[in-house]
Amino acid sequence: MYRIHETLVLVGVVPVLKSSGFVDSVTVNVFGGRGGAGIISFRREKYVPQGGPDGGDGGNGGDVVFVARTSVVDLRAFRGGRVHRGDAGGSGGNSRKHGPEGENLRLDVPLGTDVATEDREIFAELLEDGDEVIVAKGGRGGLGNAQFATSTRQAPRVALRGEPGEERSVSLELRLIADVGIIGLPNAGKSTLLMAVTAAHPKIGDYPFTTLSPNLGVMEFEDHVIKMADIPGLIEGAHEGHGLGHEFLRHIQRTRVLLHVVDGSVGAPRKRIETIDEELRLFDPGLADRPQVIAVNKMDTPAAIELQSIFRSELAGLGRPLLEVSAWSGQGIDSLVEILDRCVAQAKANEPARPRRRVVLRPKPVDGVFEVRVSEGLFEVTGRAAERVAQQTEFDNPESIALFQRTLNRMGVTKALTDAGARSGSMVNIAGIELEWQ
Ligand code: GDP
Ligand code: MG
Repeated sequence: MYRIHETLVLVGVVPVLKSSGFVDSVTVNVFGGRGGAGIISFRREKYVPQGGPDGGDGGNGGDVVFVARTSVVDLRAFRGGRVHRGDAGGSGGNSRKHGPEGENLRLDVPLGTDVATEDREIFAELLEDGDEVIVAKGGRGGLGNAQFATSTRQAPRVALRGEPGEERSVSLELRLIADVGIIGLPNAGKSTLLMAVTAAHPKIGDYPFTTLSPNLGVMEFEDHVIKMADIPGLIEGAHEGHGLGHEFLRHIQRTRVLLHVVDGSVGAPRKRIETIDEELRLFDPGLADRPQVIAVNKMDTPAAIELQSIFRSELAGLGRPLLEVSAWSGQGIDSLVEILDRCVAQAKANEPARPRRRVVLRPKPVDGVFEVRVSEGLFEVTGRAAERVAQQTEFDNPESIALFQRTLNRMGVTKALTDAGARSGSMVNIAGIELEWQ
């Protein structure tokens, strides 16, 4: 038989989850590090008067990476609009020496963090410790002049600056991961019961809606832990955003088993359970199939004793494990823990194995598409490839400018500008760089 109560270590509630301002969604600005510059250099050797070009490439800029960590509880570290930037790559050296790579900026987030683009499209779910996603790639290092040598241009005095890193704004949204989600009408005793089974101490009140943020409790067994989340404010109309329920409902989505708490001292239990079931179904039909354990609470009260037979007959047909408990006296708590442990183990066994995930948010591929716009005599060229070329040009270096012009010709930008009316003396803006057309 199960003798779980002997191995149960009471760990308690993760303190920051109390109503002190649990942060479960933020927008973050991330910048990949700039690539290092390629350099211009020529070999100097004894007896070789004119050495060939040997300027090395710049190192790549560092990426910005989010990593899921068990030790992180919420997203508060990202409040305040700070900018997160990967390190810049280093410049190349002579003798074709590659510049050092910029270090990646690794930012820890809690398990259960969804990473979404600004338009709220989720592209990564970081569920397990170590799951990671690259949200902004560092720019590539620029080519050194060694790369520009050809049979006809043996002494190129041109190198490219590093590419700027990607920049974007991402939104992080936390959906808690817990093995057990505690649901039920306000005042059923959810918070008290969480405390009873985990010796947690969430703030308990005598009135509905005391708990304004999800509380996490942890049951530690000999060789595993079970995390429980108290999901407050689940009330009628919650799925429509009425009351407090809506913003917390998403936290139930990532639970394996639901613990449905019913106040045993009030009548009509079946109807009350169905009210909650209906809310769950409307919010997410998948939640209706989640295994549920029902705990009839407050069995220490005379009212509950009186209603006991009504409860038993009304709830018999639900086909769910049913326990009579008292969060106060401790009656039935050991059996409840035992059943929850068993249900969670069963749910886990049914889950497909999931490989460690490493996601990269791919930038839109760089293509040759560009656009020329004219406003008030100023020409503007937009398009990633064209902008990149400009950003990599050293405008104080005539050979670099010549390379820039050849590239624009090849891309068709020059012709497009001429067609759009650019003449000698016209001002052209590419990627924020102002150039005079000649
Ligand atoms: P929640 O809204 O579902 O989280 O409910 P709470 O845990 O805040 O409990 C609501 C009220 O019921 C509080 O006054 C608790 O002290 C009381 N309560 C909770 N569990 C029990 C119990 O087992 N027996 C009795 N008599 N009262 C309880
Ligand atoms: Mg509560």
